[in-house]
Amino acid sequence: MSGDTEVADVVPSVREGHFDAWLTDEAAYLAPAPRPEMAGLRCAFTLRYAGRSGLGFNLGFDRGPRHEVLANRRRLLHALGMDKATLCTVRQVHSNAVCVVDEQALTNGLAGIETDALVTALPHVPIGVLAADCLPIVLYSAHPRALGVAHAGRMGTYHQVVLAALKVMQQQFAINPSQIRVMIGPGIGGCCYDLDHRAIDPFRERFADWESYCLPQKPGLWTMDLVRANRAQLQAAGVPSAHIRSLDMCTVCHCAHLFSHRAEREAAGRGMGMAVLLPEGQE
Ligand SMILES: [Zn+2]
Repeated sequence: MSGDTEVADVVPSVREGHFDAWLTDEAAYLAPAPRPEMAGLRCAFTLRYAGRSGLGFNLGFDRGPRHEVLANRRRLLHALGMDKATLCTVRQVHSNAVCVVDEQALTNGLAGIETDALVTALPHVPIGVLAADCLPIVLYSAHPRALGVAHAGRMGTYHQVVLAALKVMQQQFAINPSQIRVMIGPGIGGCCYDLDHRAIDPFRERFADWESYCLPQKPGLWTMDLVRANRAQLQAAGVPSAHIRSLDMCTVCHCAHLFSHRAEREAAGRGMGMAVLLPEGQE
């Protein structure tokens, strides 16, 4: 079932075995290659096609008919062997707000909640963030078992949403940043993310290390490397560099496989970075 999509040929992190490409009849996604330290995690970064079905794989409710999005979400859950699970997502607003998905939140439902990260310690409860250029980032702690997902575009990176998710996981679940594993999904790469001074100035004013991920191209024009910026934030918070795996797949360069707002503007659907915990002892 895996390895038979051409993504494997064009993305080094897949070709080299750090991520696997999965293509079923109804879903297509990339996932970190299995490792013992991540046995309690299932994780998927979706592609833009619903497997071999020939259908699109938009997962964002504001980007297509509701019945199609619901069908696509069911296809994704089915592919991951979680047909009975409820996929938890929120309305994303480019903030650093974090939604704690606990029993109470599941009872109340997540309708109307506006955040850009979700965290949970509940097994069998998939949480996901939508993206079409912004980075989906998955944070996983095996012991104690806990999970986070964050939506980090330019504004989310500016607001340090990945650190906000990490902090809530520390407070709520007593995770240790030095033990956490991070998977960074696809997003617009430094190769394509051109920005002018209006976008760059806030970073220059706030972050001493801004020049490490905002690279000058010509007067008044920079490119931003979101992966590098989020890596730096995580490492400064105590996450070891070796624990951070990035897909390094640019949504613009690879828009045949991924939705890209910059490449397609309003026509772009939304892919998802999604993850779920397995119960301890049931990996
Ligand atoms: Zn690119």
